[in-house]
Amino acid sequence: MQKISEFNREQLVERARQARQHAYAPYSGYPVGAALLARSGRVYSAGNVENAVYPLTICAERAAVVKAVSEGERDFVALAVITENGGSPCGACRQTLREFSRDMVILIADAAGNVRETTLDLLLPQSFSAADLEGKVPGGER
Ligand code: ZN
Repeated sequence: MQKISEFNREQLVERARQARQHAYAPYSGYPVGAALLARSGRVYSAGNVENAVYPLTICAERAAVVKAVSEGERDFVALAVITENGGSPCGACRQTLREFSRDMVILIADAAGNVRETTLDLLLPQSFSAADLEGKVPGGER
């Protein structure tokens, strides 16, 4: 498991909290904010974006990954996610994060200021990854 500094920890949760303010969650009423720290030091944040066609909704965590990867980042150190009650990342987000990291730090915060620290490996043990496709597709050695 990697370590992140207290500064990074607080900054990342704050960026997630700010992103949550821009979440678009008129259907669930459950705004989520996420902030993803890349090894470059840059932070990519996002809120969840819901849709009247419910399955088109994208979670804050996956939106942050899409922002970061589309900016050229692929190496991540930590992700902070904040909800009203400290909800944990969903399974789809865990698998999306797993594409780029096996053991990044995950900070799960609530609106009251509580922060729980875990890792992606603990949230998604024995996960499927590109390594399982080794020899099947080009670049499947991750
Ligand atoms: Zn999700």
